[in-house]
Amino acid sequence: MAQKCPKCKESKHVWCKGWRYNASGKKQMFWCNSCKKRFTPDDGFWKMKHRPEIVTEACSSYKRGMSLKHVKDHLSDYRETDISRVTVLNWVRKYSKLLESSTGKLTPKIKGPLHNDEFFIHVKKN
Ligand SMILES: [Zn+2]
Repeated sequence: MAQKCPKCKESKHVWCKGWRYNASGKKQMFWCNSCKKRFTPDDGFWKMKHRPEIVTEACSSYKRGMSLKHVKDHLSDYRETDISRVTVLNWVRKYSKLLESSTGKLTPKIKGPLHNDEFFIHVKKN
């Protein structure tokens, strides 16, 4: 896997360096030996408390015509997730561009400049 370092934009000296765990699951961390820094690639769900599947489900349900209340109830019933309608609406606004409208499949894209500061705030120390 050619993972580019967000800082020097190089992939030559980048390799896997363990995992980062949080509420949304496990993420691969990388080490850039040029910068001597580690980083986690932004998969579009950076800083999300909830798992990507739930966000995806919420957005695709809403796009299928469910009301925010129905999406919320749907997720509460089947996913045992306590989220608010506002949360659902925020997800839809923020992530619907990341989702294919036809299939509801997750299509993560890295867009825009990456902010290095944000990379390290949420990374737990080993
Ligand atoms: Zn680097």
